[in-house]
Amino acid sequence: MGTRLHLPRLRREGDRDEVVVEGATKGFPQYFMKLTDSIRYIPGIGEKRAAAFARLGIETVGELLYHFPRAYEHRGDIRLLSEVEDGEVCSVLLTIAKPAANVKVRGRMELTKVTAFDETRRCSITFFNQGYLKEVLRLGATFRFYGKVSVKGGVCSMSAPTVEPYYPGVKLPEFHPVYPLASPLTQKNIRDAVCFVLDKYDLGALDPLPPYIREGLGLEDMVTALNHIHRPNTYAELDEGRRRFVFEELFLFSMAVTFTRRGSVYELPPGMSTPDLKPFYSALPFEFTDAQARCAREILSDMIGDKPMVRLLSGDVGSGKTAVAAFAAYVCVKNGYQCAIMAPTEILANQHYADLSELFGALGIRCALLTGSVSAANKKKVKTLLSAGEIDIVIGTHALLSEGVDFAALGLVVTDEQHRFGVMQRAHLTGKGQGVHLLVMSATPIPRTMSLILYGDLALSEIDTLPPGRQKVGTYVVDESYRPRLDAFIRKNVAEGGQVYIVCPAVEAEEEGLVDLSYDGEKPKIKNVTDYTRELQSRLPELSIATMYGRMKGAEKEAVMSAFARGEVQVLVSTTVIEVGVNVPNASLMIVENAERFGLAQLHQLRGRVGRGKRQSHCVLVSDSKSAEAKERLEALRTKSNGYEIAEIDLKMRGPGDFFPSGDGRAKQSGAYEFRLASMCNDMPTLERAAELARRIAETDPDLASPLHTGLKAKLLDVFTEIKGTIS
Ligand code: ADP
Ligand code: MG
Repeated sequence: MGTRLHLPRLRREGDRDEVVVEGATKGFPQYFMKLTDSIRYIPGIGEKRAAAFARLGIETVGELLYHFPRAYEHRGDIRLLSEVEDGEVCSVLLTIAKPAANVKVRGRMELTKVTAFDETRRCSITFFNQGYLKEVLRLGATFRFYGKVSVKGGVCSMSAPTVEPYYPGVKLPEFHPVYPLASPLTQKNIRDAVCFVLDKYDLGALDPLPPYIREGLGLEDMVTALNHIHRPNTYAELDEGRRRFVFEELFLFSMAVTFTRRGSVYELPPGMSTPDLKPFYSALPFEFTDAQARCAREILSDMIGDKPMVRLLSGDVGSGKTAVAAFAAYVCVKNGYQCAIMAPTEILANQHYADLSELFGALGIRCALLTGSVSAANKKKVKTLLSAGEIDIVIGTHALLSEGVDFAALGLVVTDEQHRFGVMQRAHLTGKGQGVHLLVMSATPIPRTMSLILYGDLALSEIDTLPPGRQKVGTYVVDESYRPRLDAFIRKNVAEGGQVYIVCPAVEAEEEGLVDLSYDGEKPKIKNVTDYTRELQSRLPELSIATMYGRMKGAEKEAVMSAFARGEVQVLVSTTVIEVGVNVPNASLMIVENAERFGLAQLHQLRGRVGRGKRQSHCVLVSDSKSAEAKERLEALRTKSNGYEIAEIDLKMRGPGDFFPSGDGRAKQSGAYEFRLASMCNDMPTLERAAELARRIAETDPDLASPLHTGLKAKLLDVFTEIKGTIS
């Protein structure tokens, strides 16, 4: 049994900001609330719920309050039954016409049936296993029902709507928040916890935005804005609440960037000149495309120039960025400097290591791998060799440079697939050498404003053509009725010697609660890796199927991935861990289950895992979604193959959530700061203002010592652990 924490109850007295601690007189200590307090203080949150909250990334009161609704049900908009269309989700105000009756079916399930009416029509309503409603839904009483209304031949029915008693003259809330969930949490659990904190805690002093900034920009204070975003009464309130938090996100982000960046003044670059490039070109298994050659020239001229290089190498999935990075690494090493190559995942680091050590082995250049799953003894050895200058190229994850690695002479840092905000790591990095060259690779375009703030004046090289011989990946959107044909298609691909990726949104059945489909009155059927694999294996017993997901140990993932790369595994069922960069040219079929769950840019990345070799490849997006928006998005992917165009559409339709994908589920990733509300498309002017303010504060109050910045400092240290060292 874990200990339950007891919280003295706080209440507000009158209008004055006085906190009365009930029980304080009886010898309880005065209690000060912090955003960093555990949510276990909140009534109703025991061990089990706390564990579910933790899966949503919520452990503290602050994280709970910043768990914003993903949508709102507009329940205040009450419709007449006669004007509702079949399948519409809405509120109706109905009076009970006949007493409710409970019926047992199939021994286990209990149905509660009731008939209710408004001035236009009758509606029959069914509930499942909510027998107590029989007593609630009394004859003649009126309720607000919210849910999907079916209208078939003029007859209305609802299935398991939400029920709120209606009393004349008492206003029911207009908007109802809908939160991202993790089972067994319910919407009500989250709402109750949020409301408890908002009602009972005094949070006023914890606002991270100093009053002078808020007032200057006409933004709400934190408490008001929290109330408006979690329980708005009007659209205007919701807008104001959002506006405040959009600014806050961008401002905190700018502060973190500014504070980590300072101190790293422009230094002299490592002195480099053009080496003999012939050996490199002859070791390379193919010829550079014109686009690759142009990018290589641009990089070379930076590297032999008089300023440290800060260059973004962008190019669609499969355009061959790795080979260009290898070119840069070659130039660096031939000048007597070391190079660090960082990938966002271990799988990708392993893959780069395998590819590059093959290429560079032939050139007598020494490569080493340094990731979390390398044994302690090996790590130690690699670190020793690095500091002695006996390793030329080290490949690892973004964590590579944060754990006591010393270089003899670091000259170039390459970071791959930089969709995430790796600013903090970068700041760490440039501290390691004397003005190090930096090459950032990305398959997704970064908006100009964002790149300026992240990297200062960033130069751009773009690989705008694909290597020759690539065939377009045929893309199809299908629904569940295609399942048998899909199985046959998998079989055919394997029979022809190809390999298959299958991506599911969840790992296990219990995680399905995590998935936030828009409410349609039915339990969404979300595919999970575990059950899917079992079912597929029983349907196609002759195939060798393996699974992979983010939570697996690094070594296990590596083993699965390399078995797949060697062709020993024919079908790989996984989560989006395979999204970035994995290169298995023999893979010819990509199937994405619940495709509506993924963003376009992410689907494009997934599709980019196939069509890398000579085989004609296919990508099948499976979706049963009826939503028009989802259909439009999948259609865009079916017809378009240019990543930039797709990213544009995605930005317009979804905002940035997908722009910087969060990987497996919603797991928190250190060093990756996600925007929850701000949009790369619409909020860039706000980002500029936020960055300007951050710069001013960094100059005038470098240690955030002013009492005006107390809340700001606390919040920054809480959210960006990386900046601890930079504020005294
Ligand atoms: P990305 O830009 O997505 O990182 P990769 O660097 O992984 O792409 O390259 C994708 C595939 O294309 C790899 O198998 C690579 O060997 C191959 N490739 C890269 N450049 C060329 C080229 N000029 N000609 C032929 N194949 C190439
Ligand atoms: Mg790549």
